[in-house]
Amino acid sequence: MKPEPNRWHEPTVMLPTPKERPSPRPMAGCPECARLVQLRKAAAMKRDSSTISDCNILLRMHGTGR
Ligand SMILES: [Zn+2]
Repeated sequence: MKPEPNRWHEPTVMLPTPKERPSPRPMAGCPECARLVQLRKAAAMKRDSSTISDCNILLRMHGTGR
């Protein structure tokens, strides 16, 4: 039988959870990004999580890749 580890005083480590990643920012002046943001907003109202993540992927792709 192992002794119970004394963990009650460990500092809380704040880890970013994948689910709560910040939404990617649209590129300023990009009509495609503006369209994706509108689409994501509409999808959020319908709770269409697959469309929301599609929009996030596309926005993130534009934000990082060229
Ligand atoms: Zn764009």
